[in-house]
Amino acid sequence: MSAADKAVVALPLPDDTEKHKQSVVGMANKRYFDDVLPFREEEIREALKREAKKHRWWKESAVKKMQIGELENGSCTQYVLESYTEARSTSEATEAYTLGQYLDRYGYTREGHGDNLGSSSQQNPWDYEVLPGMMFVEQTRVMELPGSSRMGSCASCNAEGNTHCFHCRGNGQDKCGFCRGTGMKSGVAHPAVYTHPMVASFPHADLSRGYSSSSTAMVRHGNNTYGVGTPMYFMSKTGVPPPGMGTHDLCYMCHGRGVRECTYCKGGGKKVCSTCGGSGSVRTFSKLIVQFELEKSDYITPCEIPEHLIRQAESKEIFMETANYVRPISKFHVKEVNDNSRLLCVKHLERVMGKSRVIQQRHALYAIPTCRVKFTLGNHSGEFWAYGKDTRIYFPKYPAKCTIL
Ligand SMILES: [Zn+2]
Ligand SMILES: [Zn+2]
Ligand SMILES: [Zn+2]
Repeated sequence: MSAADKAVVALPLPDDTEKHKQSVVGMANKRYFDDVLPFREEEIREALKREAKKHRWWKESAVKKMQIGELENGSCTQYVLESYTEARSTSEATEAYTLGQYLDRYGYTREGHGDNLGSSSQQNPWDYEVLPGMMFVEQTRVMELPGSSRMGSCASCNAEGNTHCFHCRGNGQDKCGFCRGTGMKSGVAHPAVYTHPMVASFPHADLSRGYSSSSTAMVRHGNNTYGVGTPMYFMSKTGVPPPGMGTHDLCYMCHGRGVRECTYCKGGGKKVCSTCGGSGSVRTFSKLIVQFELEKSDYITPCEIPEHLIRQAESKEIFMETANYVRPISKFHVKEVNDNSRLLCVKHLERVMGKSRVIQQRHALYAIPTCRVKFTLGNHSGEFWAYGKDTRIYFPKYPAKCTIL
């Protein structure tokens, strides 16, 4: 049974929602933001040599000849906000259970567990503490809602303990698979090709008595069942075998009847109910489904180096804070970072407000050092960028590469 299809969402309690609202107003305590070290010329020259090795058309000798001029150090800042939330829902479930098992486990009444004060709809799924295995990791936990257990009769079999066999539709007999219902040995012509006046029937003509699962029309004659139009059916009507036919012409599996005992129910036409295991009773309970979700958003200050390159570079964590509800950053020296911190904090809370409960939030600032480098090589001059703690090189305009380096 899939838990998702009939799950009932449990909305978080109102005071949780109130906490959400308050967390975006007010100020955080004094915060300290770390900084990055500026690039030095030697580091940049080393990085250029490494870069030259990666490109066949760059010459390392050119790196040596290059005159490095002005270095304009700066940095890019990435703000990352993560919200770890939980959403809860319930879903009804049943399992095969005998009354004896139930009494052993829950004691006295048939109506339910001793501390069960009513149906599961009266129990609040938020009353129970459920902890994630690891914080800030998405996961789903499913458990039985305490006190929701009750005993009931099986709806699948109307408490009878067994159901009609699906394969033979409760008939107990099914088309013979060896002769495909003809009753004939393979290679022998079917007798119905000569229509007998007393039989006046073609195979499978009597569809009113047929079963769609087998598409074989069956007739019960005393204790025997025949497929309509088979040699045995012919004999039951006429008292003699079809003309020109002997026992050796009949299918040896069904002996000319065209039908065989259903292998699924062994001819009984009934099967043990799979829902209640034959006991006719089931235990019903509510499953509590707790989904721990992680929402992550970020903002990177604009810079002349393309953002996808900045994202790959090694950065330095200059600030990190974890709280039940983090307050937006407001005192960073870059206004856009403060603005976007506030925007993302509001956006995160709006998204979960009234739907999920925030367990924890964390936010961080990462600095990616950048440096605009002016250079001359022979009579050519230009500029490139060094960036990242791992000192990567970026040429904004790759002209004919070999003419530069
Ligand atoms: Zn057969
Ligand atoms: Zn059957
Ligand atoms: Zn049942």
